[in-house]
This record gives sequence, C-alpha cells and structure tokens, in this order.
Amino acid sequence: NPVRMQAITSVEAYTPPPFTFDPGEEPGEVFGENVFSLTVMQKRLPKSVYKSVVSTIEKSTPLDPAVADAVASAMKDWALEKGATHYAHVFYPLTGLTAEKHDSFLDPVGDGTALASFSGKTLVQGEPDASSFPNGGLRNTFEARGYTGWDVMSPAYVLENPNGNTLCIPTIFISMTGEALDHKTPVLRSQQAMSAQAKRILTLFGHDDPENVVAYCGPEQEYFLVDSHFFLARPDLLNAGRTLFGAKPPKGQEFDDHYFGAIPERVLGFMMDTERELFKLGIPAKTRHNEVAPGQFEVAPMFERANEASDHQQLLMTTFKAVAKKHGMECLFHEKPFAGVNGSGKHVNFSIGNSELGSLLVPGDSPHENAQFLVFCAAVIRAVHLYGGLLRASVASASNDHRLGANEAPPAIISIFLGEQLADVFDQIAKGGATGSKEKGTLMIGVDTLPTLSKDPGDRNRTSPFAFTGNRFEFRAPGSNQTVAAPMVVLNTIMAEALDYCASSIESAVAEGTGFDEAVQALLSTIVADHGTVIFNGNGYSEEWPIEAEQRGLKNLRTTVDALPELISSEAIELFSKYGVFNEREMHSRYEIGCEQYVLSVGVEANLTLEIGTTTILPAALRYQTELAQNVVALEAAGVTADTSSLTAVTEQITALRAGLADLASAVGHEHDEDLHVTARFCRDSVLPAMAAVRAAADELEGLVADDLWSLPTYQEMLYIL
Ligand code: ADP
Ligand code: MG
Repeated sequence: NPVRMQAITSVEAYTPPPFTFDPGEEPGEVFGENVFSLTVMQKRLPKSVYKSVVSTIEKSTPLDPAVADAVASAMKDWALEKGATHYAHVFYPLTGLTAEKHDSFLDPVGDGTALASFSGKTLVQGEPDASSFPNGGLRNTFEARGYTGWDVMSPAYVLENPNGNTLCIPTIFISMTGEALDHKTPVLRSQQAMSAQAKRILTLFGHDDPENVVAYCGPEQEYFLVDSHFFLARPDLLNAGRTLFGAKPPKGQEFDDHYFGAIPERVLGFMMDTERELFKLGIPAKTRHNEVAPGQFEVAPMFERANEASDHQQLLMTTFKAVAKKHGMECLFHEKPFAGVNGSGKHVNFSIGNSELGSLLVPGDSPHENAQFLVFCAAVIRAVHLYGGLLRASVASASNDHRLGANEAPPAIISIFLGEQLADVFDQIAKGGATGSKEKGTLMIGVDTLPTLSKDPGDRNRTSPFAFTGNRFEFRAPGSNQTVAAPMVVLNTIMAEALDYCASSIESAVAEGTGFDEAVQALLSTIVADHGTVIFNGNGYSEEWPIEAEQRGLKNLRTTVDALPELISSEAIELFSKYGVFNEREMHSRYEIGCEQYVLSVGVEANLTLEIGTTTILPAALRYQTELAQNVVALEAAGVTADTSSLTAVTEQITALRAGLADLASAVGHEHDEDLHVTARFCRDSVLPAMAAVRAAADELEGLVADDLWSLPTYQEMLYIL
C-alpha cells in the first residue's frame, strides 16, 4: 500500500537531530538553571524578604503583599535576564491538561515606548478569561471569572521557546466565590488537613512542636513512542490517542524481550534530550528503561512534595511531547494505545513526612519508633479500607478503564499488600497475641518482643493496586495520562481522617487513665479487627480474587461509570467538608465534570470508529471483495473450478462490519439525557460494545484483505519500527 510504504520508507530514511550538548558540559550541570529557586531568591532578595518567603513556604500561608512586590520585582529581573518576554500563570483545570494565560511584560506607556512591568499583585493574582474550562456548574456566566494565584511552594520557572521565552508561575485556579476549579487548590488544602492530624500523632509520640508534615509523591511515568510517520497515518491515534482498530501482531510481547532490553539508539537520544530539558526545569528525572511492551518506556523522577511533584509531572508530560516531536516521534500517554499489549500506568509512590523526621512510613530503629510507624501504617489500612472507592474514583477515566484489570495492571478492587513481615506483625496483633502480654513490664509493641522490622522492602507484589514497598506505599491504579493531583488529594484527605481517628482514640484512652503503650496497642488491634480485610497479599490478577474480594465486602468498581458516584456519596461529602478540602458543591462539580469528560471521550472515539470504518476499512474490504469476485468469474470462464472460500470469508466480515457500523451509528445518534450519569451509562453499555463489534469485524478483515489495499499502519509496524 502506497501510504504505508511511504511511511516505512520515511522512517527508515530518518536521521535524528544532532545532539545539542556542549561537549564540555557536565551531566546535571544545567540542573535548575531555569528555576527561580530558593537559592536564586536568597541571592537576589533582601534578607528579610527572603526569610518571609521561606516561612510562607514552611507554614503554607499566603504571601504578604509587601513581600510579593519585592519578590515580583526580583523575579521579573531574573526572567528578563533569561530572555523572557512574557509571563504566564500556569494552572491545572479539571480537563486534566495544563492551561496558561500569557501576558507581555511590556506595558505601553503614553509616549509610545513600553515599560517592563510586573507587580506583586500580578504575581499573586491573575484573572484569565477562562470561562471555557469545565466548572461543573460552579460558575454562572455572570460570574464567569476565575482567579489564579501563585502557589509559593511551587517555584516559578522560565520555559524556553524559539519564539521567545516565558516566565511560568504555577498557580491555583478558583472561582470568584473561592471554590476550586482546578487540581492544585485541593492538593494544598488536603495537605494542610493531613499535616494537622499527623502532627497530633507525632506530639503523642513525644515530638515537641513537630514541623509541618507533607505528602511526598514519586510518580513513575510509562509511555509509548511511535514514529510520527505512522502516527500521522492513523487518524485514531491522532485524534483519540489510541488505536481503535488493529489486529494483534504476529509477534506480541509473549517473549518479554523488550523489558530492560537495550534501548534503541534513537530512543536513547530522545531520553538524553528530555532529561536535559527536565533538569533545566529542576525536575529530578532519574531512571529510564524499557517497559514490558514493545515501544514502551518509563521515566521516574525523584519524589518531591505532592504539589510540586504534580506540577512537575504535568510539565514532564508537555516536555516529553515536545521533545518527541523534535525527534520525529510521538509520545503517547494514553493508558491503552494498543489493545492486547500492556497499558501504561503512572504509579504514585506515596509517603508522608518532613525534613526533620524523614518518611514516617519507615520502620524505625527502636521499638518506640516502630510503634509510631505501626500507627501510621494502621492509619493507611483504615483509610484505604474505608475509602477505597474514593481512591478508585480518583483514577477514573474512560481511557484508564481499558487498562485496569487487563494485561498486567491491577484490578479495580482496591486492596493493600503489606509484604510478609508487616502482614505477620499485624496478624499477631489481630490474634491478640500482642494484647496485654506484658513481658518485663512492657507491652509487646513497646519493647523487644516486637520483631525488628527490616527496612528491606522484601518481596514485591506487582499485582496489588496499593503496595507497601519498604518506606512508602505504591498506588498502582493511576493511569499514565492522569494528573497525580487527584489521587494525592484523596490520599491526604483519607489519611487526615484516619490519623484524626488514631489521635483521638489514643488521647481519650490516655485521658481515661490507660497507659500510652496500652492505648496504642488497643488502637492497633481495633484497626486490624475493623479494617484488616483490606489486606491481601495474594495474586491480584487471579480469577479467584474478585470472588473473594466480594465476600470480604470490598468494592469492585470496574468502570468509571461505577466509580464516579463515590464522589457524591454522603460519606465522601462529609469527609471532604469536615477536613475543609471540598464543599458539597465542589464535589458535585467534580462528579459532573467526570461524567462529562467520559461522555465526550467515548463520543469522540465512537465518531472516529464510524468514520474510519466507513471511509477506510469498508472501501478496502469492498475492493478486495470485488477482486476476489472477478477472480472467481475469470476462473469459471476459463473452465477452472474456483475456490470461493476467501470470497465467502471476506463477504461474511463485510456483512458484520456493515451491521456493526449501522448499530454504532444509531447508538451515536441516541439523544443525550439531561442527567450526565445516565448518558455515561449509555455510552458504556451501548456505545462501547457497538464500537467493539465494528472493531472485531475490521480486525478480522485486516487478516483477510490483500496487504497492498490496507492503508492503516499495522501494530507490527507501529510497535517494532523506530
Ligand atoms: P520501582 O520501579 O521499583 O517501583 P522506581 O525506582 O521506578 O521503583 O521508582 C520509585 C519511585 O518512588 C521514585 O519516583 C522514587 O523517588 C519514589 N520514592 C522513593 N522513596 C519514596 C518515598 N519515601 N516517598 C515517596 N516516593 C518515594
Ligand atoms: Mg516501577
């Protein structure tokens, strides 16, 4: 086929761009070069101003207006030296993408000249004309404005562009009434809620006036690379981010030979280039290796505070897309770009702690520290058991539905893997072996009968959606295309609730005269008894697990449509309002937007399926059918008995394809219900199956129709030619 041959020839003839490195450059030399970091601020700001910024960051309080002016002025000078002509408030609307409002530094003055201006007010507050972003009913048109304001904890940076550099300021995005329209605002709110409760626990364990506790997030990002020539010849990849057609390649990932295999030279060049760009922006990218599927790779930046990590994660994705284009490739972040091949996730490594105490999820050296560690772990167990549905909802999207529970991704059932050692400790606590068993006057968790907890993560269970890995938990359900902010908000908030519960329980027991160790002991036993069913160390991919999980009363919210209502359950609304993270209106708006995004995304795919099926696949099949029919006629005329089996097979699939297209067309034409959830359910139950039927016939045809008539690049080509 001319289209495909052209693409293949072009890929083979492609020469990657030359390296941009200065040969004398040390690796990492450029790190943070384009970041208005604390170090830069320390150099450029008066001491008192600098101190005030630092304390703002530590206490997570708003920036003092007088300080803001001084910071803005230093930031502007720095950015102008870096070649910036514009500044932008960067915010994170609920589409999951990144949005920017650009303004020029230059203000025209009366006499025809321009003056570089950028005040404290412009730094801490912007007013983007952003009425087109989804708000789920939070803004009426008369108050359509949203406001942006700098998150001082996330540093400003300069983004380079051949057309002029831009100073970027990471901001929150809220309505005039102060309601959150974005992903960042609730991260900051939930962060504070969690910190307040964690500090209560630390105080109980004898830490005097502990520092603020923050959530750390280390996201592992998986992605696919596809050559642009193939990408452009696939309207489905181009418009939906995933292939809506495509037969399984003869060579799949059965041999797993891609995993940790050699990285192709072209990809290596891309990785080095992205790493350098990320370094300049102060993003600590660390590992790179091949993933399980052909064409799939991973990058894992070092963990950072949640709000910074989620900004960096968004920036990483835009950087990867841009650099890939420069290298003649397309970077795919879709959770399931290729059916039957591994999907892409974004594991969220989660811990809480502070600079003073490190991670609070690391077993300590002394029994006292281990008791504290066990309380934090028990809080995680309670949180995940009570609110697993919310965790599931935080990663719900039409695209992630294709991944969860399929080909090496955890199921939609949220359970916890603790590892043998820790599971054993909690087991003993549950059996009461620990309760009241005083030895040398101390309780088991108080002293030496508690086994020394090794810091080695031990055996890893890759089938669990939520696994303890030695000093953190790894939440494996988030999808590659999602913001890590949403799961971090849920994790922070449910941890706030669980730590609140733990602190109150110890406090009241102690107030009633129970000894501290006994109070802790009793709390741990209660939590294991009430919430231990969420612990599962077995194989999460097995067929028995969903059945057992149901017996244990764990939710199995398979699809986005099942998961989203969790956001507006009365328990969820009570939880989020209690800790000041979302009010009821904000929860409803998020639920509505979730439904809307789902409907929109399935709608786009359905229309594409119709279009490609009708204008590309059906014509190829009809041409081949005609060829076969002519062949039969010619043979018969020549007196040779014709074998009509190919003609019959093609005809059968053409009939199926036509029927599928007709069904899909009628499903797409179905009127939308006013209730978005009803429409979402219709999409799941009628539109997606109709698309699947079209695809099944089309994929069969791909194996029947003459190769030269098939114009869509095949899986084989897209996955194996780079
Ligand atoms: P693996 O593939 O074995 O799960 P990776 O090295 O690919 O591990 O990624 C681990 C991620 O976890 C990194 O982003 C790392 O920075 C992060 N991480 C390590 N320790 C912590 C911690 N205490 N809290 C949060 N994230 C962490
Ligand atoms: Mg990993």
